[in-house]
Parts: sequence; structure tokens; C-alpha cells
Amino acid sequence: MINIVDEKDCNGCKACLNICPKVCIEMLIDEEGFWYPKVETYKCTECGLCEMVCPEINIYSKKQSYEEPICLAAWNNDENTREDSSSGGVFTSIAEYILSKSGVVFGAGYDETFKVIHKEVSRVEDLKELRGSKYVQSDTGKTYNRVKYNLDNGTKVLFTGTPCQVAGLYNYLQKDYEELYTADIVCNGVASPLIFEKYKLNVEGQFESKIKSITFRNKEYGWKKYSVVMNFDSGGRYSEKIGNDIYMQGFLRNYYLRPSCYECSYKNTQRASDITLGDYWGIASKYPTLDDDTGTSLLLVNTDKGNAMIRGCGNNVFTKRCDLGHAISGNPSIISSVKIPILREKYFNDLNKHEFEYVIKKYMSPPSYIQSKIILCKRVFTFIKEKIIKK
Ligand SMILES: Cc1cc2nc3c(=O)[nH]c(=O)nc-3n(C[C@H](O)[C@H](O)[C@H](O)COP(=O)(O)OP(=O)(O)OC[C@H]3O[C@@H](n4cnc5c(N)ncnc54)[C@H](O)[C@@H]3O)c2cc1C
Repeated sequence: MINIVDEKDCNGCKACLNICPKVCIEMLIDEEGFWYPKVETYKCTECGLCEMVCPEINIYSKKQSYEEPICLAAWNNDENTREDSSSGGVFTSIAEYILSKSGVVFGAGYDETFKVIHKEVSRVEDLKELRGSKYVQSDTGKTYNRVKYNLDNGTKVLFTGTPCQVAGLYNYLQKDYEELYTADIVCNGVASPLIFEKYKLNVEGQFESKIKSITFRNKEYGWKKYSVVMNFDSGGRYSEKIGNDIYMQGFLRNYYLRPSCYECSYKNTQRASDITLGDYWGIASKYPTLDDDTGTSLLLVNTDKGNAMIRGCGNNVFTKRCDLGHAISGNPSIISSVKIPILREKYFNDLNKHEFEYVIKKYMSPPSYIQSKIILCKRVFTFIKEKIIKK
């Protein structure tokens, strides 16, 4: 039976929860806000399925169709969709292709309290619920069960999510389904839902109103200088460039990613999915004409099914073949995990002891109070060292 000893050995995909025939696994949330499986041992028959499907115990390796992924710069030709999407809006186009074949699409959306959860969509008009990046770990709940149900009934499925969520799905299904298509995102790491809750409460407090909508990647100031925008029931509007938004500052400094993200098992050009979606950061350094600052997607086409999805998009999507090495150099998240910040442990300790406001002030004002102290200490140390050497 599954027993998580070290938190970094669980990515929270919930494959174990979905597979358990005795329904004896519950997910417990730790003090950092991440969920982990706990087996109710008295109900468990030790069938071993939970360990078998775990994508951290059994690393999923997908058969790729090509020696290396086909690397494309791309965007959705519909200007409004591209504007509403984080990168070039290719997700919407491949999702529309699957829906046009009477299929269903799974991806990350919000529930009514703006918790990030995986949802199933079967109508084009509902795709907007999945559009846009949510920089929080998405709760897959029982969606793997739903994917299987659809596939067993012969329905085409597009499942989208982080690489580990896609890997968890394949392990859970335990067989190849012709009708299953997958897209993973290039993933820097997923943030703690607990911090996201505290952040939402903080801004709701400031606006004295409930949140009506959240966009992490508003392109008002361009794709590269994106901002976080929230609308409130009161009619109020919050808008901050990423460098000034307290949540994005901490996310981009990697303070509150899931422990497994710092040693991700799925950083690779051998992807878990049929197609990988990301931002083509740094594209202008080699292909300046492909950057008009409204969003350029990076696509890694890993399998013939991925290729079929792109071909299925037809004229809705513009694509241009690019150099994989160049794409990776602008987006190291494809192949490497971020390092654990030295202040991460202190951050969570402080969070347990103090108000969120205190933690924000201490860690988020650029450069953070502690970081500036470290920088100052380093400078003093170098200064003294140089003086000693001169003598
Ligand atoms: C946590 C996170 C980290 C990321 N890190 C990077 C990075 O380092 N480099 C990079 O190039 N791109 C990164 N991305 C991907 C990028 O932000 C875009 O999501 C991607 O390029 C797709 O953009 P799009 O314009 O095609 O579609 P959009 O409509 O913008 O994206 C929608 C797609 O994103 C998925 N999605 C959104 N939020 C989540 C979530 N919380 N968990 C799982 N899936 C989600 C949806 O299911 C859907 O498939 C990250 C995304 C997330 C959510």
C-alpha cells in the first residue's frame, strides 16, 4: 500500500485515489497546503494497485514517434482567443478539434470559490473555463475515473495538465486507448493552494468584496509584461504587473512550489504526452518576426497523435518549425527543475506563526528583506576578504 515517507515522492496526481477498489485512500492536506494519500489500513486488502499506478514509483515513459520532438512556434489565428490565452492560444484550437469529433476535454479551471480543479468540458462555449494558466496546483479529484468512463464508451478524450498529471493518467489507465489524446504544459512547478487561498482573502479584504474573475496572464501591457487581473462583485478591479503582484513574486521566486517540483521526474524532452504546450520565451533572439508580443506558443509535437491534433486545427493555427535547442535555451523548465530557495522553509515557518501580511512584507518586497540582508552580508564579507588579501 502507498505510504509517503518523503513528501517529495508524491506529486499529488491522485492516481492512487482513483484506482483504489476499496475506496480506502483519502487525501490529507499538510501544513503547506498540499495533499498526500493516506490509506485507511483496516479497509485495505493490500492489492498493490495504488503503488502500481503511482507515477513517482513507476516513472511513465511514453513511446515517442520521433527521435526528438518536432519543435514549433505557433499561435491561434483567432485574435480574441489568442488575447484571452496565456501564450499563443493553441490549447483552445486543439480542444475545439477534439470537441468537433464529439469528444470531451479535461483541464484546469476554477470552482465557484476559485479553487483550481480539473474539469470536464463537452461544449465549445465552456472551453473558456479551462483557458488561461492558473499558477496553483490543480486538484484532479476523480477526473481519471471520468476519463476512463468516456474512453470505455468510445468517446474521444483530450486530457491536459502538468506532465506528472498526464503520467498519472496513463499509469492509472494501464492500457493504450486509441481515442485518448494528451497535452501537457511546460511546467515550472505548481504552487500551494493554501498560499493561493490566503492571497485571495488578502485581496478580497482590500476590496471588501468577493472575487468575480481571476486572470493570471492578462496581456494589457503585452505578452511578456503580463499582469494579474481580478474583478470583484462590487465592480472593483485589481490589476498588477507580475513584478508587483505579491502572489506572482513568490511563485516566480519558487518559494511555495510542491516539494516534488524541485526534483521533478518529468523534466525531459521525452515527454509524457502527445503534445507539449508552453510559452516560446526568447523567440525574438532567433526569429524576431515571430514575436509581436501578443503571445507565441511553443509546441513540442511528440507523437503522431500530437501531429494529427495540429493538422486537425487546420487554418485556425499558424505554425513554424523552429530549433529545439533554441527553444530549450529560453525555457529551461522543459528539462530542469528549479532549485529549492534557501528561504522556503523559513517562509512556511513564518506563515504558520504570523499573519499573511507580515510574511508578504518580509519576503515579497523586491528585494526581500532577508535577501537584502544576505546580499549585504556577502558584500561585507567580500570587502573584508579583499582587504585581508591586499595586506
Ligand atoms: C503552474 C504552471 C507553470 C507553468 N510553467 C511554464 C514554464 O515554466 N514555461 C512555459 O513555457 N510555460 C509554462 N506554463 C504553461 C503556459 O503558461 C501555458 O499554459 C501554455 O503555454 C498553454 O498556453 P495556451 O495559450 O496554449 O493555452 P491557455 O488557454 O493559456 O492554457 C490552458 C491550458 O493550461 C492548462 N492549465 C492551466 N492551469 C493549469 C494548472 N494549474 N495545472 C495544470 N494545467 C493547467 C489547462 O488545462 C489548459 O490545458 C505553465 C503553466 C502552469 C499552469
